[in-house]
Amino acid sequence: MTVSKRASRRRRRRARLIDWDRIMMKRALDLAREAAARGEVPVGAVVHRDGEIIAEAANTREHDGDPVGHAELLALQQAGRSLGRWRLTDCNLVVTLEPCAMCAGAMVNARIGRVVWGADDPKAGGCRSLYEIPADPRLNHRPPMRGGVHATVSSGLLRSFFQARRKKKSC
Ligand SMILES: [Zn+2]
Repeated sequence: MTVSKRASRRRRRRARLIDWDRIMMKRALDLAREAAARGEVPVGAVVHRDGEIIAEAANTREHDGDPVGHAELLALQQAGRSLGRWRLTDCNLVVTLEPCAMCAGAMVNARIGRVVWGADDPKAGGCRSLYEIPADPRLNHRPPMRGGVHATVSSGLLRSFFQARRKKKSC
């Protein structure tokens, strides 16, 4: 084996040891905090390829009056535009809240490589809580999933956002 081949194998091994799920989730949580400051429900999403960020987004529903303005949907669209293709098999999606049915459908359509989320969403989750869309054997793409990454931070953000909003409304 050549020296450069050995070095690149070592690099790949090191890259596998890095927990990109947690690192990228921290970035997604920052995006969620920024969204909360703009009055949006704090959800952030990152699309990355082995740690290289391809796209990132947060909820824009309030600002844009857009019913489909969910962080992960916007990040998928942005990733497709930036790579110039809709097929995102080599990409990972990291989002702070379990994707809803709409976003889970978009992930399957994008042939996303892997999905990682923070807090479960018992009211609208489409990956585990209400539906298991990305695991449905009838669909032609089933990405591996991992939930619960920095889940308490994510649910804490959501809780304090809704508490503050309720307080504001009752004033
Ligand atoms: Zn959604």
